[in-house]
Amino acid sequence: MAIEPVHYPSMVTKLRDSFDRGLTRPLGWRRAQLGAMSRMLRENEKSIAQALAKDLAKPGQEVYLGELSLLFSEIRHARRQLRRWARPRRVHTPLVGQPARSWVQPEPLGVVLIMGAWNYPVQLVLSPLIPALAAGNCAVVKPSEIAAATSALMAELIPRYLDSNAVQVVEGAVEETTELLKQRFDHILYTGGAHVGRIVMRAAAEHLTPVTLELGGKSPCVIDEGADLASAARRLIWGKCLNAGQTCIAPDYVLVTRARRDELIAAIGNELDAMYGQDRLKSDDYAKIINRRHFDRLVGYLDDGDVAIGGRFDEENCRIEPTVLTGVDADSKIMREEIFGPLLPVIEVDSLEQAIAFVRQREKPLAAYLFTRSRVSERQFVESISTGSLCINDVLMFMSVPELPFGGVGMSGMGQYHGKAGFDRFSHLKAVMKRSRFPEIPIRFPPYTDFKLRLLKRLG
Ligand code: NAD
Repeated sequence: MAIEPVHYPSMVTKLRDSFDRGLTRPLGWRRAQLGAMSRMLRENEKSIAQALAKDLAKPGQEVYLGELSLLFSEIRHARRQLRRWARPRRVHTPLVGQPARSWVQPEPLGVVLIMGAWNYPVQLVLSPLIPALAAGNCAVVKPSEIAAATSALMAELIPRYLDSNAVQVVEGAVEETTELLKQRFDHILYTGGAHVGRIVMRAAAEHLTPVTLELGGKSPCVIDEGADLASAARRLIWGKCLNAGQTCIAPDYVLVTRARRDELIAAIGNELDAMYGQDRLKSDDYAKIINRRHFDRLVGYLDDGDVAIGGRFDEENCRIEPTVLTGVDADSKIMREEIFGPLLPVIEVDSLEQAIAFVRQREKPLAAYLFTRSRVSERQFVESISTGSLCINDVLMFMSVPELPFGGVGMSGMGQYHGKAGFDRFSHLKAVMKRSRFPEIPIRFPPYTDFKLRLLKRLG
C-alpha cells in the first residue's frame, strides 16, 4: 500500500531509528541486502520486462542491456569490493605530527533519498541504492511516476526482498515529492532534468543536505576526418536508437567534416536497415516515446532541419522513426535543448578544432564521443573537452566499467557514483589521527622561543 504524505515524517524517523541502532552497520547485513536485490532482479525478470514494455515498449534485449546487466555488474562488484572500500584507509603522517597514525574511516551518512527518472526506471532507482546500502545507509526510494507500471512494480518488489526497516519506497508525483523533500535527509541523489534539479537543491538547502544531481545535456559525437565510418555509424546509431533515444548519455548530435557528411549519412542509413528493417515504426526492437508530451516536443523539432533519413511518426502509439536531420541551424531549438529522442542532427564543420570549439561554446555535456584513428586527435579531444564521461570510438559502453565514476559536470550534474565512487558518495570520509602516548619534543607548547620556531619550520 502506498505511503501517504502525512506518514513521511514517521517513515523517516523509523529509518533513522534503524540507522541509529546500527542495523545497517555490519558488512554481512549490507552484503545480504545486495544479494537480495540481485535475487529480486533474477526472480522477477519477466515482470520487470513486462512493466518496461508497458511504459516504454522497451525490447527485451534492451531491458537486459540497459537495466539489468548494469545492475548485476554493480552488485557483483560492490559485494566483492565491500570489505576493501569499508576498511580504514591509512594515510601518511608528516614528521611534525609524529609519532602517530592517521587514517580515513568511511562511515555511513544516515538516511538518504534517491529519486529516479523515467527513462531507465529500474536502473536509475537501484544503481544508486546499491552504493547507498553498501555504504551502510538507510534509504527512501522515489521512482518516477511517469514510468507508472515500473514505479508500481518497484513499490511491490522492494519491500518483499529488502529490509523494510532500512529501505522504503514512496510513489507519487509533484505533490508527494514536494512533501517528501520537506523531510530531513543526510543526502539526496536525484536523477532527472535541471529544472527539478533546482527544486531539489533548494529543498535540500533548508536542511543543508548535500545533493548529487544526475542531470542531462547535449552529448556531442564528433567524427574525425580519418574515422572508420561504417563502424562509427553502427555504434553511434545504436546508441542513439537504444530506448528510442531516451538515454541521458545518448549522442545528441553529430559533428562531421563537410567532405564526409554524405558518406556518414549513407552509412547510418545502411545500419538502420540492418538493425530495424524498412518499417522501423513497427520494429519490435525499437522502443516508443514515453508519453504524448514528449512525443509532441520531439515532433516539434522536425521543423528545425531537413529530413535526410526517417521523419515519419505514429501518433497513436507514440513512435518516431530514427531520424537524421541536416541543415540544422546551430541556434535552433533542437540545438538549444536536450533532444532526448531518436532525432539526430548532423552538423558540418571544417575541422576537429572547429568541432571542439563548437562543443566548448556550449554547456558541459554529460558525455562526449569521438570516432577517430588518430592518437593526436584523441589526445586533443580528451584534453580540451570538459564532460562527465568521454568515450573514444564508441558510445555508452563506458557504463559497463563499474570502476569508472559516473556523473556530470557543470550543467550536466554534480557528484559521481558507480563502483567505489558510489560507495564514497554515500559515505562520510572521517579523518582520524591517533597520537602515540610516548613523550614528544615539546616544540608546539609555550613558552615560544626562537629555537622552537626554527625547529618547527625545519620539520615543515
Ligand atoms: P522525471 O520527470 O521522471 O523527473 C525525475 C524525478 O523528479 C521524478 O522522481 C519526479 O517525480 C520528480 N519530479 C518531477 N517534477 C517535480 C517537482 N515539480 N518537484 C519535485 N520533484 C519532481 O524525469 P525528467 O526530468 O523528465 O528526466 C529526464 C532528464 O533526466 C533528462 O535531462 C536526462 O538527460 C536526465 N537523466 C539523467 C540521467 C543521469 O544519470 N545523469 C539519467 C537519466 C536521465
